[in-house]
Amino acid sequence: MFREIGSLPRLAAAIAEIQAETPPENALPSEDVVTRARETLIPTLPTEGLGLEATIRHLRQEIVPGFNGSSRSSNYYGFVTGGSTPAATLADNLVTAYDQNTQVHLPNETVATDLEDRALTLLCELLQLDPSQWPHRTFTTGATSSNVLGLACGREYIFEEVAAVRSDATISIGEIGIFEAMHRSGINKIQILTTVPHSSLSKAASILGLGRAAVRNIGLESHPHKFDMPLLSKLLEDPSTASIVAISASEVNTGLFATSGLEEMQEIRKLCDVYGAWIHVDGAFGLMGRLLSSPDYGRIIRGCEGLELADSITGDGHKLLNVPYDCGFFLSRHREIASRVFQNPNAAYLSAGADEGIMSPLNIGLENSRRLRALPVYASLAAYGRDGYREMLERQIILSRGIAEYILDSEHFELLPQFESERTQILQNIYIIVLFRAKDDGLNDELVNRIKGTKKVYVSGTAWAGKPACRFAVSNWMADVNKDLPIIKGVFEDVISEWQLK
Ligand SMILES: *Cc1c(COP(=O)(O)O)cnc(C)c1O
Repeated sequence: MFREIGSLPRLAAAIAEIQAETPPENALPSEDVVTRARETLIPTLPTEGLGLEATIRHLRQEIVPGFNGSSRSSNYYGFVTGGSTPAATLADNLVTAYDQNTQVHLPNETVATDLEDRALTLLCELLQLDPSQWPHRTFTTGATSSNVLGLACGREYIFEEVAAVRSDATISIGEIGIFEAMHRSGINKIQILTTVPHSSLSKAASILGLGRAAVRNIGLESHPHKFDMPLLSKLLEDPSTASIVAISASEVNTGLFATSGLEEMQEIRKLCDVYGAWIHVDGAFGLMGRLLSSPDYGRIIRGCEGLELADSITGDGHKLLNVPYDCGFFLSRHREIASRVFQNPNAAYLSAGADEGIMSPLNIGLENSRRLRALPVYASLAAYGRDGYREMLERQIILSRGIAEYILDSEHFELLPQFESERTQILQNIYIIVLFRAKDDGLNDELVNRIKGTKKVYVSGTAWAGKPACRFAVSNWMADVNKDLPIIKGVFEDVISEWQLK
C-alpha cells in the first residue's frame, strides 16, 4: 500500500522548522554521532515507503546530526567550502519549490532565462567585467565544469586559428572530432601551458581527450606560481603545436596569483595573439579579489588585474559568492564558439523563440535540463550588492591575516610558502588561504588530525615542499575576526599543550 505523498503546507512547515534550528557551533560532529547516523541509513529500498512524517523525523533527527559543520559553522575552514548567505538560502528553497527547467529561452512563458542572464550580467558588474564583452556566459555546477567548458572552447578555437593560417577550410573539432582536426591541420600536439594548476584542469583535459599529460606546468623554480615567460614564448612558437594558456588566479594551496599586474597579462595576451593560443583563467575564488579597492589589498588587486584580457574565465558560485552547492559560472568572449561546441543539432523542438539576445542555456553549456542555479546568485547580489560582498570578503581576508599573524608570532609554527622575509610583504600576500606547518616534524605529521580532533575547527591537509602542511581556507560570509580568531588560537594552544604533555 502506498502512503500519502505529503502536502505543500506540511512541507513549508518542515522547512521552516529546519531553517530555524540553531546551527552547530562545532566544525565537526563527533565520530560516534557520524557512526550513529550511518547506522540509521535505510538498508534497502522499502516497498511501502516510510511516509513523509517518518521521513522528516529520520532526516532531522538521525541524518542531519551526522553532517559536518560545512557552511553552517563559521569555523569550518576545509577545501574553500564557502557558505550560503540568507538570501541565497531562501532563493535555493524557491528553486526547488518552483523547479524551473532553465533549458530553452522561452521569453513569453517564463522569466527564468531572463533572470539567469541578468544574474550573469550582475556578476560581470560585480567583477568589473563589461557584460557586452562576455556574450557567452552561463552557470555551471562548479569550477570544475567551468574548466571543462573553458578547455572545450579553447580546443575549438585553437584549431579554427590554425586552419585560418594554413588553409581556407574551417576546422571544427565539435564537428569532425580531434583526430580528424589534427590530421587535416597538420597539428600533432595540443598543450595546456599553466602554473600551479588546480587538479580539475587535468581532469578537464582528460575528459576532453586532450589528456592529463597535455597540462604542462611552466612555473619558475623560485616562484612556481609565476610563468617562466621565455619558456612560455618558446613553447608557443612551435608551429606543429596548438596551445591553451591557463592562468591560475589564486591557487588553492597558497592563495597566490599567477600574474601580478596588467602589464604581465598584456604580455601573455600579445604572445597568445601571435600564436593563436586561447587564454583561460581559473579564478574559482580568486576572481572575487576584483571587488577589492583598499591599498591593504594591493597584491591581490594586482593579481586580478588584466584578467579581462582572457578568452574565458572560470568562477565558482559556491565558494566566495556564498551560494549553495552546486553553482559555478563560465564567461567567454567568443559567442560563436559557444554554439559550435554546445549546439544540440537537429532538435527543432528545443529551438529558442525569436529573442536573439539571450542564448538558450542548452546550446551554450554542458547540460540540457538543469535547475535555476541563477536564482540564489541573483537574490544574493540583489540583497547585498557590491558593498555587501566587498565587506564580506574583507572580513574573510582580515581573519586570514589574523591567523597568519598568529602563526608568524608563534614559536611552534611556520607560515608557508617562505618567498618573502618582510612581515608586511608576507601579510600582503595573504588572501583567504593560510598555509603553514608545525616546526616539530613529529607534531607536523599529526597536526591536521590533532586540529580536527578538537572538533572546534576544521582544516585541510596538504603537502608543501615534500612535507605535510596544513591549510585554512576562510570562505564563509559569517567570518568574524573577534569571534573566530580566539577560537582558532585556543585550538592552537590546546594542540601545543597536549603535544608537550605527550
Ligand atoms: C575549487 C577549485 C576548483 C574546482 O571547483 P569545484 O567547484 O570544486 O568544481 C577549480 N579551480 C580552483 C582554483 C579551485 O579553487
